[in-house]
Amino acid sequence: MTLTENRASTDEQRVEALVDDLLTQFPPRTTEPRTFLGEQYDRGLAWVHFDEGHGGLGVSAKLQRIVNERIAAAGGPNAYYRNPIGYGMCGPTVAVWGTDEQKRRYLRPLFTGEEIWCQLFSEPGSGSDFAGLSSRAIKDGEEWLVNGQKVWTTLAHVSKWGLLVVRTDAETVKHAGLTAFIVDMQGPGVEVKPLRQITGEAEFNEVFFTNTRIPDANRLGQPGDGWRVSLTTLMNERVSIGGAVAPKGSGPIAALIKVWEELPPERKSAAARERVTQLWSRAEVLRLTNLRANAARKRGDPGPEGSIGKAASAELNKDVYDEVVNLLGADGMLYGSYDMIRPELVGGTEVSLQKAFLRSRANSIEGGTTEVMRNILGERVLGLPGDVRVDRDVPWSQVPRN
Ligand SMILES: Cc1cc2nc3c(=O)[nH]c(=O)nc-3n(C[C@H](O)[C@H](O)[C@H](O)COP(=O)(O)OP(=O)(O)OC[C@H]3O[C@@H](n4cnc5c(N)ncnc54)[C@H](O)[C@@H]3O)c2cc1C
Repeated sequence: MTLTENRASTDEQRVEALVDDLLTQFPPRTTEPRTFLGEQYDRGLAWVHFDEGHGGLGVSAKLQRIVNERIAAAGGPNAYYRNPIGYGMCGPTVAVWGTDEQKRRYLRPLFTGEEIWCQLFSEPGSGSDFAGLSSRAIKDGEEWLVNGQKVWTTLAHVSKWGLLVVRTDAETVKHAGLTAFIVDMQGPGVEVKPLRQITGEAEFNEVFFTNTRIPDANRLGQPGDGWRVSLTTLMNERVSIGGAVAPKGSGPIAALIKVWEELPPERKSAAARERVTQLWSRAEVLRLTNLRANAARKRGDPGPEGSIGKAASAELNKDVYDEVVNLLGADGMLYGSYDMIRPELVGGTEVSLQKAFLRSRANSIEGGTTEVMRNILGERVLGLPGDVRVDRDVPWSQVPRN
């Protein structure tokens, strides 16, 4: 056994022993979820690759899978499900960019779900071109004064904290003038208004900042680091959305196969069978691509597969649910209620195939559109000529905008 293999095996034994201890002392079925998650965090089993004392053990991220699988099998709570933007994106960003003080303050309650987080990046005039955003912050003593509007902010209505990126210097090129902050979503000067989706629910919101004061101690990274901070968030978002490797034949494709199996024989046409088979094959190709991407990431070489996985899973989900609704025939048009609700969880509370079809329409927009993923692949993988960028070397204040 090499030194590296020896270390990996010792780390694995340590993780297994800590999970044993957690499950024995706090049986998940009889322990209050927040208590359980707090104990999981304190044992370094929240994000095992984070530093010790901050929810991790400083070991390989791949060992997290052992933790998650064993806790799920024992019926334990899931931190991602309770606080998806926080666990999947904001936590990893605080871990990379936060001071020790910030990590101590924010990571534990984020993990236990006591404090929900949201991501305040997109604006009405800047979604794909997020670096062109216009919300401003001006330094005022030991505070920053923020004015502007964000949009599509998932779970802002239940959030305690938001990861906010705003412009702090308008006289430099757009990427260089941004700064990231942690903002109190329940503080003065923050107004959250629901935005209703095609499903009838309002998972996301508009957020208005009017003379909002943020202490300088809530700055993440240095002034001007906002773009680099957001790249950490977006990298985690892409993996969090498109990179999961589910078992063969599971996820949306399993829903399609179930609908197919339950169809009466006279409706199982050869043409429909071929469409279902093609979708199943695409799902399997995506699964194998994500496995390859995970292996590359473990070698420290993230590669282009993150963007491939994001684009491919979005288009596949949409096509799979299209076919589900096709096969359901007239039943595909039946939908419970369009009463507006503001769910506490992404995806809402009611689950149905019809709703999954409607919700899947957002997959090719959220977390970066499919067109933008294709631009990334075209430029970085295929070496095609770059997108037209008229604002690259121009100070943000001089870029024409509407
Ligand atoms: C369900 C959902 C949840 C979301 N949650 C959040 C959240 O929590 N926080 C947050 O900050 N944002 C969130 N978003 C916003 C999301 O990140 C943006 O919608 C996305 O980045 C696209 O931006 P946009 O809507 O402004 O579209 P635009 O950027 O205006 O794009 C409009 C169209 O033009 C195309 N396009 C744009 N630029 C190019 C280009 N260079 N080349 C080719 N085509 C191009 C796009 O593909 C798209 O089809 C969410 C969105 C959805 C749908």
